[in-house]
Amino acid sequence: MADAITRRATNYAQWYLDIVKEAGLADNSDVRGCMVIKPTGFALWEKMQRALDGLFKSTGHVNAYFPLFIPMSFLAKEEQMAEGFAKECAVVTHYRLKAEPGKPLHVDPAAELEEPLIVRPTSETIIWNTYKKWVQSYRDLPLLINQWANVVRWEMRTRLFLRTAEFLWQEGHTAHATAKEAEEETLQMVRVYQKFAEEWMAMPVLVGPKTDGQKFPGAVYTLCIEAMMQDGKALQAGTSHFLGQNFAKAFDVKFKDQSNKEEYAWATSWGVSTRLIGGLIMTHSDDNGLVVPPRLAPTHVVIVPLGKNDAERGPSIAAAEKLAAELRALPRDDFFGYEPIGVKIDTLFDKQPGFRYAEHEVRGVPVRVEIGPKDIEKGACAVARRDVPGKEGKQFGVPLTGAAEHVSKLLRDIQASLYARAKAYRDANLVTANTLDEFKSLFPIEKDEGGAAGGLKFVLAHWDGTRETEDRVQAEYKATIRCLPFDGPQESGTCIFTGKPSARKVVFARAY
Ligand code: AMP
Repeated sequence: MADAITRRATNYAQWYLDIVKEAGLADNSDVRGCMVIKPTGFALWEKMQRALDGLFKSTGHVNAYFPLFIPMSFLAKEEQMAEGFAKECAVVTHYRLKAEPGKPLHVDPAAELEEPLIVRPTSETIIWNTYKKWVQSYRDLPLLINQWANVVRWEMRTRLFLRTAEFLWQEGHTAHATAKEAEEETLQMVRVYQKFAEEWMAMPVLVGPKTDGQKFPGAVYTLCIEAMMQDGKALQAGTSHFLGQNFAKAFDVKFKDQSNKEEYAWATSWGVSTRLIGGLIMTHSDDNGLVVPPRLAPTHVVIVPLGKNDAERGPSIAAAEKLAAELRALPRDDFFGYEPIGVKIDTLFDKQPGFRYAEHEVRGVPVRVEIGPKDIEKGACAVARRDVPGKEGKQFGVPLTGAAEHVSKLLRDIQASLYARAKAYRDANLVTANTLDEFKSLFPIEKDEGGAAGGLKFVLAHWDGTRETEDRVQAEYKATIRCLPFDGPQESGTCIFTGKPSARKVVFARAY
């Protein structure tokens, strides 16, 4: 309930955890760093999966599945990847336990694997080891494959959805005959992520390359989408990597081109994870609970019939059922993924109306329709939009005739206004620092995580392009370079940290 939710302005980190809990999205588990995704949270993930999967398929990709375990020697083959992931790998060394009477269950020392297996932190190595068998000629290319899977990265500081040791994701792995084609794919997929973030999640993102210091281990370069949360922190929401020929060389994936010349294949990989659910929560939710953009809401509309006794309740329920049927029967379109509008009827009459409303608010149902005896007399209902809490977001006297169309239109309005609101917030908090003093004032140490919401910004500033300066800024201000936005200012200048020449301004932020 709303009073169980810490206010954003009091403690943003706690507010986030309260929403996850009160909206019934996920729980911590008894396994270190791993969460239990509850039915409501998983329904959100399924909605995301369906929309993303459609976007992948419409850009020519197909799904496949590769093993959970990766021989350690595979990881060793690509040096940057081995170095990048070595420090967070779960390793399987034995294949049997021993249950002996009178002794605690233990690992059977006689059952040691010849070669340790790692639980995939990402699947480039196992997939490129497979592609070796699939690719001989240019006719075998491109391979445009995606996998929906779980991965494990032994993260030290975990937070529900945003960073967990095991997480669900999709990983695209493509192989191409030319660098140009692979680079076009890398760009296409980060644009697909942008489209998903903006048009489904209503979450505006900056798009552009990461610095060398922040790129994926094994990539030539990484493109990303970066979103601003309501505390002004950045969330890396998705990444698309151009891997060059690094994995083709490591796994000997060669093909004969049209002139019968042997060439190594060119690679990309790209992924988004259950972190997106954390991003969705932190972009739109408020002190009353979760706010879900209608395109991703498992339930779009809850109808709450009202009445003090059976005589009053009967007509309210009948009207609710009629409206529910009308809503479900509306023509299907792309906005709702060609599925019927999701409607629930709340018949918990033994609870006070206010309690019932609050419950649906906490869970983020986009539209609530109330139908009571007085409404029935007038042939009308009351319609409340979740994104505008309180009286302001409630319309009384909406005629029941045509209410289904009215609600369907309202859902589209909510989607658009959530995006507009998030974008206005992001744009208002994207500022420029022209001097080091300005930069310092924007990243004061006391405004660190766990404290009050707001105050932090995305900061455009000139940077000399070196790893050394980037590392120093991170150590001193806890701010990292989020990306070199495609749509940002491109002119050269002087680095505010070192006075050296700068090719362009980059975006700094504190990040999740
Ligand atoms: P990467 O393979 O590192 O480029 O990550 C792919 C996607 O997974 C990115 O969108 C990340 O935001 C997300 N991601 C990375 N690590 C985690 C984690 N520990 N928990 C949840 N999502 C993650």
